[in-house]
Amino acid sequence: MGLMILIVEDNELNRDMLSRRLKRRGFAVSIAIDGQEGLDMARQLAPRLIILDLSIPIIDGWEVAKRLKGNENTAGIPVIALTSHAMVGDREQALAAGCDEYETKPVQFKRLLSKIEALLNPGKGGGHAAPDA
Ligand code: MN
Repeated sequence: MGLMILIVEDNELNRDMLSRRLKRRGFAVSIAIDGQEGLDMARQLAPRLIILDLSIPIIDGWEVAKRLKGNENTAGIPVIALTSHAMVGDREQALAAGCDEYETKPVQFKRLLSKIEALLNPGKGGGHAAPDA
């Protein structure tokens, strides 16, 4: 079975697209549709990486990121935040909350995939983690 990625996303179309395309690349995918479920699943499943929409119900993504990074059991899991388009402040807040990377919606899958691969293979370099703005 492939490495597990947890997608925390309330938008059905977006999470279905991400899930389908990640599975096609060989990843195992789990899905949470709100912040509480995302936290619970992160603790239970110990995924290798989390894709975290920031605008989600119950507990928002910034708070989810802070709680993940504040718990020793989940602090080491890389988190890629999905941020709203053109909301520059969102990126900074995502990184301040402990997210390792961010991707602007609408998601460009190839760009997201390169960020995923960079976080899963930190020794390989390649500069994918550099901010694009
Ligand atoms: Mn959302």
